[in-house]
Amino acid sequence: MGALLGGLALLVLAAAAGPGRADDLAALARVDPVTSRITDTDGVPAGGLGLRLSLSQAVPYRVSLLDGPPRLVVDFREVDFTGLHPVDILATDRIADIHWGPIRPGWSRMVLALDGPYTLHLAEEKADPVTGGARLRVDLAPASAAAFKAAVGVADAADYTLPRPAVVDQPRRRQTGDAPLVVVLDPGHGGIDPGAEAPGRHEAEIVLNFSTELADLLRRAGMTVIQTREADVFVPLETRISVARAAGADVFLSLHADALAEGEAVGATVYKLDIAASDAASAKLAERHDRADLLAGVDLSGQDDMVAGVLMDLARAETQPRADRLAGALSDTIRGAGLKMHRHPVQGANFSVLKSPDIPSLLLELGFLSSERDRARLSDPAWRAKMAQAILVALRAWAVADAAEARLIRQ
Ligand SMILES: [Zn+2]
Repeated sequence: MGALLGGLALLVLAAAAGPGRADDLAALARVDPVTSRITDTDGVPAGGLGLRLSLSQAVPYRVSLLDGPPRLVVDFREVDFTGLHPVDILATDRIADIHWGPIRPGWSRMVLALDGPYTLHLAEEKADPVTGGARLRVDLAPASAAAFKAAVGVADAADYTLPRPAVVDQPRRRQTGDAPLVVVLDPGHGGIDPGAEAPGRHEAEIVLNFSTELADLLRRAGMTVIQTREADVFVPLETRISVARAAGADVFLSLHADALAEGEAVGATVYKLDIAASDAASAKLAERHDRADLLAGVDLSGQDDMVAGVLMDLARAETQPRADRLAGALSDTIRGAGLKMHRHPVQGANFSVLKSPDIPSLLLELGFLSSERDRARLSDPAWRAKMAQAILVALRAWAVADAAEARLIRQ
């Protein structure tokens, strides 16, 4: 976690300063696209950049700079960006990419991909007497690479109420069938990160929908189910793993429906962890799964520290074959139910989210949004019900055999 905590460079917290009435405070602040700009003129230092946001009310905010690639990150308490589009406010070509959205409960984030090194010149929020709201101004000045490096830092996440990764000494004891199976379902993406896009729909929504249906089915079958998200919110990858650990998960199943170039991807695919996986398609998916966290400003470099205390190799040596057996069971039951699977139904990939050393973890691509046939299947309630049923059958069969093995080992 060192990288996350290290070097808090720029922290600006502004208390609500607007003259708004008490009933305004309950509402979300909104951004007015007409009077908001990202500009390289308008009082900006020469060669610099300026963010001018017109808000319906003042909100606490903070500004930080991140590297790899260089980004400006502005976090706000409760801002509703609905209806705002980058083209409406982007008046400079020095911003390569811009994202915004909810990042965790109560907090929104705006991330601007910068074209080079800058440092913070000015950040202020002032009441706007004309609108009764507030104007937020952030100015960046061009800087040397060294000055930028010195200014880089992620604000401490403490006051986000982000669950900190658990400190772990001992691998989790494996399930023996004496208690309900604890299944953590991980609908991919969400919030600021919509995942793959298809006409009118995106992956984050599709996999959340399926996850909710699957959770219902598994619960009715007596399993304990926790979802890493239950709404359209952003959840960092490491939080997804922390949720599984905090829940005491017996199984972690990440659900996706990504897009890949035509021909590469049709049908459901089960992915298990293979750190050395070199297949081009799986590398592309791994990059895509991790990239959202990068764009959202989350530093993944602390990922492995989280589990450093675990007797990692030992746990993984036992966990990996258990995950492999579940992958086989899933592939068998999905195919057995007559559902379309990829021609290589079980594949290895280096996905961060599969790296819990002591929780069997798999990632299921339900289908690919890049495939028209998969899109049709994913929108078909009967298909989804069949898929959920196949997953239930696989989990049940696997859990029985897995518990039998656990009892045998313990004797
Ligand atoms: Zn995905």
